[in-house]
Amino acid sequence: MGLLAGKNGLIFGIANDHSIGYAIAEAAVAHGARIGVNYQNERLERRVRPLADQLGAALCAPCDATDDGQLDVFFAQAAAVFEGRLDFVVHSLAFARKDDLSGDFADTSRDGFALAMDVSAYSLVALCQRAAPLFTHGGSVVALSYIGAERVIGNYNVMGPAKAALEASVKYLAYGLGPKGVRVNTLSAGPIKTLAARGIPGFSDMLAATAQATPLRRNVDRTEVANSAVFLLSDLSSGVTGETLHVDGGFHIMGKALPLPTAAGPDPQGDADA
Ligand code: NAD
Repeated sequence: MGLLAGKNGLIFGIANDHSIGYAIAEAAVAHGARIGVNYQNERLERRVRPLADQLGAALCAPCDATDDGQLDVFFAQAAAVFEGRLDFVVHSLAFARKDDLSGDFADTSRDGFALAMDVSAYSLVALCQRAAPLFTHGGSVVALSYIGAERVIGNYNVMGPAKAALEASVKYLAYGLGPKGVRVNTLSAGPIKTLAARGIPGFSDMLAATAQATPLRRNVDRTEVANSAVFLLSDLSSGVTGETLHVDGGFHIMGKALPLPTAAGPDPQGDADA
């Protein structure tokens, strides 16, 4: 235990206690880290602040990852709270318009494509830019991705190219920040019911089909993803960078394709757990 003792880290992307980011925050604190978290807007503050308090977060402040001004203020606050030293950053955020998560990918609008890219991929670059001067003793950055970056998954649509851009950005950031002793890696998680996931039509069908087609014959849970995040954030992974670690029960090794969901509308079962 205590794999992150003495480390200061920022975790971006907690919406509620179902969030993968929240599970990572819980695990990081359990392993001795001091953390800071953001909330995207005032509406989410009501959910996030009590969770941050519960975890004893040293910082809980607003930050929309598409707003350079808010990013600057957030990182200035983090620099003050953590006395100029950061050891890790977790990027657990993504967004695409609901319209762009169903139907034909070829119908994706220019705006919808740009928005998904900005929130889900460029934001990692924006975070790394601001974190780099604070990684005074090296550092570790972890971003969350999905197999839809590598293969076509029904209804994942515009998020596929956005996650592919995120994974490629991880590699270029790993190369650029490597000389500073900063490592940058991706965790490619299996499907988990969260607020973001409920935006994908047919998500419950995807969960069932994934469990069936996975070597472990079950879906992963957020704690398993969080435990792998702790490994990548800790010195145990000191020689690992630019890597995509799949925490998906082995689904990514399979040659058998998932049946594409037929539902075009929102998934009522997916909504229920949000
Ligand atoms: P979630 O809805 O709990 O978290 C998504 C977070 O993104 C929210 O906290 C939201 O506030 C934040 N966000 C969206 N737009 C933002 C913006 N402009 N600025 C700042 N924050 C913004 O869902 P989650 O499933 O925990 O998602 C976390 C990450 O895990 C995402 O990158 C997602 O793509 C990835 N992921 C999820 C699954 C899954 O099945 N749930 C699988 C693989 C990867």
